[in-house]
Amino acid sequence: MSSVRKQAYQDVLQRSPKEIESGEKISKSFGEKVFHLEVMREYLPDEAYKSIKAAIANGTRIERRIADQVASAMKDWALDKGATHYTHWFQPLTGSTAEKHDAFFKPVGPGRAIEQFSGELLVQQEPDASSFPHGGIRNTFEARGYTAWDPSSPAFVIADTLCIPTIFIAYTGEALDYKMPLLKALHAVDEAAVDVCKYFDKNVTKVNATLGWEQEYFLIDKAFYNARPDLLMTGRVLFGHPPAKGQQLDDHYFGSIPERVTTFMKDFERESIRLGIPVTTRHNEVAPNQFECAPIFEECNLANDHNLLLMDLLEKVARKHDFRVVLHEKPFPGLNGSGKHNNWSLATDTGVNLLAPGKNPKSNMQFLTFFVNTIKAIHDHADLLRASIASASNDHRLGGHEAPPAIISAFIGSQLTKVLDDLEQNIKAGKMTPQDKTELKLNIGKIPQILLDNTDRNRTSPFAFTGNKFEFRAVGSLANCAQPMIILNTIMAKQLQLFKTSVDKRIKKGDSKDEAILKELQKLIKESKDIRFEGNGYGEEWVKEAKKRGLSNMKDAPSALKVWERKEVIELFEEMNVFSKRELLARQEIEFEKYVLRLQIEARLIGDLTQNHVIPAVINYQNRLIDNIKGLTEVLGKEAMAGMDAQKSLLSDLSVHLNKMQEVSRKMLENRKKANKIEDIQKKAAAYRDTVKVHFDEIAYHTDKLEVLVDDEIWPFPKIREMLFTS
Ligand code: ADP
Ligand code: MG
Repeated sequence: MSSVRKQAYQDVLQRSPKEIESGEKISKSFGEKVFHLEVMREYLPDEAYKSIKAAIANGTRIERRIADQVASAMKDWALDKGATHYTHWFQPLTGSTAEKHDAFFKPVGPGRAIEQFSGELLVQQEPDASSFPHGGIRNTFEARGYTAWDPSSPAFVIADTLCIPTIFIAYTGEALDYKMPLLKALHAVDEAAVDVCKYFDKNVTKVNATLGWEQEYFLIDKAFYNARPDLLMTGRVLFGHPPAKGQQLDDHYFGSIPERVTTFMKDFERESIRLGIPVTTRHNEVAPNQFECAPIFEECNLANDHNLLLMDLLEKVARKHDFRVVLHEKPFPGLNGSGKHNNWSLATDTGVNLLAPGKNPKSNMQFLTFFVNTIKAIHDHADLLRASIASASNDHRLGGHEAPPAIISAFIGSQLTKVLDDLEQNIKAGKMTPQDKTELKLNIGKIPQILLDNTDRNRTSPFAFTGNKFEFRAVGSLANCAQPMIILNTIMAKQLQLFKTSVDKRIKKGDSKDEAILKELQKLIKESKDIRFEGNGYGEEWVKEAKKRGLSNMKDAPSALKVWERKEVIELFEEMNVFSKRELLARQEIEFEKYVLRLQIEARLIGDLTQNHVIPAVINYQNRLIDNIKGLTEVLGKEAMAGMDAQKSLLSDLSVHLNKMQEVSRKMLENRKKANKIEDIQKKAAAYRDTVKVHFDEIAYHTDKLEVLVDDEIWPFPKIREMLFTS
């Protein structure tokens, strides 16, 4: 074993679970590090409390005077929690979160200092953030970007820092982050959904999109992680022979969690709970050392902040336990990758989940309205939804027979399929007789309230109805959920607007309200039928069938990212006031840049590691074989060696794979140099995909063969089986 690898192995074998805090009931610590409404009531004068509460509920403006009071209360509370610094916490387009810390501490004279924090500092800041991606929006002459407070997501304390959730915008007003467009999309769907709700219940004044994400991740011991430069620098292993005992036995799923991991999880959950993240589920996933955590769903903006916060926490707490978290969508070849299911629904301020079947015909009509409109939105904007989850890393997972294909479709289950088929067939053109109406209402009333039947689930569908919500399963584990949520809520808003307009038109022409709604639903069901698919999404058959239906199958990120520049997409976002054309194209450019950058790093690293790790190990072993053959021939004589060619054939196998590997690596290098000269970012991305990335698998094929052939003692990297099966 190489010395680095040997050391790592020994380190891991010696580890034991870390001591963690015990005692105090977990329910008691829920949200204790969050400046939530209850705390505000305690720390704020009544007037300020009321206006901040209204601002949170309705998005109304907060006066500077009130902001000053909130800032002062926030500071007092944070100091009580041990904070010394504060930061505007934001979501730049890199995909993670960013912060710049400032001290509350302010010297006010010789030997005198106070803790200071004003409304001005709370509301707006100018982080020195010229290095964040901006897709050309922030040229150097207008290099300023601002962060601005988002009161709808409460501030929280981590370690010694008060973190204030903010949006991040350019001096010229364009969004440079994920939060601002998400808030706009949520506003759009709120307005459109309230309008439609009024058909059923006049009391509805607000509709919130809800998000419940499920985050998958791998845990790797830090010693192994550090001994794998590829994992460290790209988040995945670029080569590695899949372990003999992979997930074939399926014994890991829901299996017992090793003690070290359990201790880590307890620690991490406690921290999450303190920060107000309602994590409840904890279990093993399909692959060894793969896990999942899922909180109870929340309002979408808050849920998304919580996901980002949780990804950060995972990392921090894992370090304490000598683990490293791997969030990449496909860290290990031959094993399932990680995703982030996005469970999504719409909820009214009257306490109704609009995607849950109700108790009577009226509430079921409402359910069907939102249900059918969702399917229609997915049908009309499937390509956008596909684009919203496009990334270099997610390319490894989608369509890999472990995750949904790149073809977007919706699964609704046999019961609802029947309901929609009935509606489609049984509504007659022209006026309905009272008897028709009664019959229809009776049928609609029969939709069972509980559809959460586990036998009626389809894990292969990218967008599945699961009884009281839709689950978007194609989202990558590394992604910011905001991106798919911006799209989903925007297309839903647009569809609901169209629906409302059409229904109103029908009513004007003399239809009753119910009749108008039913006829419109029937039309939508017909028009969106092609997007519904109940079969096996992993099968080859579906690829063919989808093609026949005319559904898109954008297999890689560069193809999918093209969607952003379509004329109708730009128009949609402008009309819905979510993105301007400039914002949209800037974002597209950033995504292409990220794609190229990722492949560039991977290609470079593959080149380096094959040259200075793999080849020397192979040569070393070859020399030993040569010496051995020479020695044997000397001792046994040429004749005796004639039939014994084990060493020789091993030597030649090693040479064959080494040469092939080298040949492809050289080709890749040449192509990479050519690709780097391309100015146009989209063409560059395509060149990377078609001429550079295409060689990754071939190189890995040969290094994996070499890994098997070379003496285990001298192989330089920890092997996948070691990293995943040692704990
Ligand atoms: P699984 O997909 O693993 O079978 P469940 O279906 O039980 O798990 O739930 C998955 C997630 O769905 C949970 O995080 C839960 O909070 C979330 N969820 C439940 N209801 C809603 C809703 N109305 N809106 C958004 N998310 C929801
Ligand atoms: Mg799920």
